[in-house]
Amino acid sequence: MTAVAGVVAPVPFLDLTATHDARRGDLDAIWTRVLDGGRFVGGPEVEAFERDFAAYCGAAHGVGVGNGTDALELILRGLGIGRGDEVVVPANTFVATVEAVLAVGAVPCFVDVLPDTLLIDPDAVRAALGPSTAAVIAVHLYGRPADVVTLRALTGASGVALVEDAAQAHGARLGAERVGGFGDAAAFSFYPGKNLGALGDGGAVVTSDPGLADRVRRTADHGRDPHHRERHDLCGRNSRLDALQAAVLRFKLGRLDTDNARRRAAWDRYLAWLPAHVAPLAAVPDAEAVHHLAVVQVDDRARATAALDAAGIGWGVHYAVPCHRQKPYAAFAVELPVVECAAERILSLPMFPTIAADQVARVCETLDGSGP
Ligand SMILES: *Cc1c(COP(=O)(O)O)cnc(C)c1O
Repeated sequence: MTAVAGVVAPVPFLDLTATHDARRGDLDAIWTRVLDGGRFVGGPEVEAFERDFAAYCGAAHGVGVGNGTDALELILRGLGIGRGDEVVVPANTFVATVEAVLAVGAVPCFVDVLPDTLLIDPDAVRAALGPSTAAVIAVHLYGRPADVVTLRALTGASGVALVEDAAQAHGARLGAERVGGFGDAAAFSFYPGKNLGALGDGGAVVTSDPGLADRVRRTADHGRDPHHRERHDLCGRNSRLDALQAAVLRFKLGRLDTDNARRRAAWDRYLAWLPAHVAPLAAVPDAEAVHHLAVVQVDDRARATAALDAAGIGWGVHYAVPCHRQKPYAAFAVELPVVECAAERILSLPMFPTIAADQVARVCETLDGSGP
């Protein structure tokens, strides 16, 4: 523990500077390479990253896009989902999942989550499936795989699409397979704070359906025919990945497993050192999580966060207001007791690949002092 004149060093919630400082030489070389190459949107850097990332996820095709929200929207659009369709989504997710559904003109059907992991509840999905259901979005929230094996069986039997929102789970595994290859397609975000983060916005769609990959690629590039650049056979939009971001992401992809292993080591320390009144989320069976966030539950969150604040320790709540209780989605609200109860109790603790053992120890000691 570092004590300077009686002041203990703060523990940030997320420390991107530490991650980038260790790789500054490589990142500087990438800036120069892209500048020299003269291709800034699309081009060989993007193509190389798309290939590597799809292969990493166990999918046949990867399409770089502008961000994770666009990735979700482009998948739904590419699947032909729109007006009159219902899309099942867990209420415990970042609002982007729901924004994508509304953006294509479909209606979100909110379902509850499992009490021990706070991930989408397959029984709730089964109960929600109806004649208008066109897709289910499984969110691998906090870096933990949702039960896409059960969901695939459910949706496959009823001709409903399964979309993975893997924005928080790059590299997580369910059984032997990485997330991103279980559904019809998966959406990834490369927002800087994600496990695989760009130095700006970025996203990707991965899929093993060549037709869907082609539709997503065309739509994201003004409807352009990749083989006849002057032809725009469909009305698209602009959502492309920069060469600079792709080059950074391709470099970081080579370090992702190491970074994720460091996150797992930090989570294991939390499990060993957290006081009894702080309940970490349960492990997902048969899964290897990548701990995008370190989420615990406490009875008295105000007391815990006051203690963390006083000790200079960063924290967050993901998510304090469940999506179905956010203003724009009030028309689609239903009673979802598990997520509503959890929203009062959840707390996200500092988590990033370079977090040191003594930083985790300080968080745990501080929470110990805030107990009943
Ligand atoms: C970050 C995130 C998104 C959206 O990604 P952006 O790149 O910010 O658009 C979607 N879903 C989840 C679960 C996320 O965490």
